[in-house]
Amino acid sequence: MSLYDPLLAQYVSLLEVLKSLGAEIVMHEPSLVCDPTPYDLSLLKIAYDRLGTLAPLWVATYFEHSNEATNVLVHTPIKGLYLDFVHGEKNSESLEVLGKSDKHVSVGIINGRNVWKNDLSASLKTLNTIAHYIPKERLSLNSSCSLQHVPYTLRHETTLDPDVKMLLSFAEEKLTELSILSKAFFGNEKIGEQPHNTSRTDPAVQARLSLLQSGDTKRPYPFALRQEAAHDLFDLPLLPTTTIGSFPQTADIRKIRQEFKKGLISREIYENEMKNAIRDCVEFQESIDLDVLVHGEFERNDMVEYFGEQLSGFAFSSNGWVQSYGSRCVKPPLLYGDVSRPHPMTLEWSLFAQSLTTRPMKGMLTGPVTILNWSFVRDDQPRSLTATQIALAIRDEVDDLQRSGIKMIQVDEAAFKEGYPLRREKRAEYEKWALESFLLSTAVAERDTQIHTHMCYSEFTDIIKTIEAMDADVISIETSRSGNRLLKIFAEVGYAQEVGPGVYDIHSPRIPSVEEMEKQIRALLEVLPADQLWINPDCGLKTRGWAETKAALENMVKATKRVRQTL
Ligand code: GLN
Ligand code: ZN
Repeated sequence: MSLYDPLLAQYVSLLEVLKSLGAEIVMHEPSLVCDPTPYDLSLLKIAYDRLGTLAPLWVATYFEHSNEATNVLVHTPIKGLYLDFVHGEKNSESLEVLGKSDKHVSVGIINGRNVWKNDLSASLKTLNTIAHYIPKERLSLNSSCSLQHVPYTLRHETTLDPDVKMLLSFAEEKLTELSILSKAFFGNEKIGEQPHNTSRTDPAVQARLSLLQSGDTKRPYPFALRQEAAHDLFDLPLLPTTTIGSFPQTADIRKIRQEFKKGLISREIYENEMKNAIRDCVEFQESIDLDVLVHGEFERNDMVEYFGEQLSGFAFSSNGWVQSYGSRCVKPPLLYGDVSRPHPMTLEWSLFAQSLTTRPMKGMLTGPVTILNWSFVRDDQPRSLTATQIALAIRDEVDDLQRSGIKMIQVDEAAFKEGYPLRREKRAEYEKWALESFLLSTAVAERDTQIHTHMCYSEFTDIIKTIEAMDADVISIETSRSGNRLLKIFAEVGYAQEVGPGVYDIHSPRIPSVEEMEKQIRALLEVLPADQLWINPDCGLKTRGWAETKAALENMVKATKRVRQTL
């Protein structure tokens, strides 16, 4: 806070320059939707009392309502507010206050973070309600947030199923929608015909949903008995070593996948190449004496796209890229319809990998919440229902794996935390259905099937109870960069299941030494007992090269053995 005044002074000079250029200015303040405290709001008042006098100024919030801030901002000299009426329906509670003030409002009415066509008639109705409070002269229309969250255009999408394409609207199309809506709202023009509805339901999925029972989300045996069974079945040493799933995705591997996708090589050649990669990977893991092996995920371009491509209810664009972080982009699946699993998705690869070794081979699945959170999800039904459908598909995969003898199965929930609502009041609801979806996908596991899960980037302190309730036998987490700070919470709450806190950071090519990892493992032992700990890197290795991966894992196993000798 000691920086607040100097920072504000910088904004003052910046606005003075912009004003001299004749600009109107929009300040983005999205954090105002995250339950601001009275103190936050007092700072807001100080800032905009000052800045609002310098130039015509707008304040933009999105992804939720910002009523607390609105009530402050109407008493500052700003020109207007950008409000999200798509994700922040509750902004309507401020309409009266806004109407009585002199503020302009830019109404976020077209969803800027999803790809489905707008229901223009419904939007027009919302706008007319708003106009009931605020005169049209003070209103303008907008997307609900920046369009950077959606792909650029549908114009070049030539391979999409026309029925699915009919449902879609990317950034360019959203601008057209905005223009139609604007002409209807301000100019009383007719909206024109709305597209007919493509059928999104699958009777078989609906029938299965109607058969769900509350017991389906509960594992049949308590953890203590499952742990006993796992000891008998796997007979692992203390501090078992493993990895999070993926091994380096080299240029060669990517090329083979691409050639197969383009039809340039036969399925037989493709499968042989993948099997060779799996064989090398298994051999390597055996050679360094890892305890629990993985097949390496070479067949997967992406942990969500791979599953989406095999499930019904998903479609894929050719060019629908959006920024993920930095210069990385992803092409999120388009989850438009009821989800089902026409055939097993990972079974063949896991069985092949298991056939190469007598050590346990971990099956590797992406969990329902992560598939949901990293896709563009249909908005014609609650997300929770869509999550349930995905969970059933994953559940079938878990069951197929265990029946075929794969008794250790990791269900990754890398993006579990990303789905948390911005407003505290909505958290409990999300936690409930996200948890139930995970449980629905894993509770089919028998007593002697060990369920692992993995989470990235997670600050666990405030969600530890939910993690506990996920009832995974083993959870691996990303803690290597925070030392033991994150791990302590597991001890504090008396967490009973096993935990694999990442012992080194895979986000860097640096190879940690044996000594360094030994020290890290000993530090872990100060927090949790040895029979509760697993040793693994902190995330998948797909972005790393082989040389550093080999060296780091070799050191990790050596460090573990050194520690074991002293236990
Ligand atoms: N199993 C995945 C992998 O190893 C998990 C990736 C992730 O946590 N984001 O790549
Ligand atoms: Zn991870």
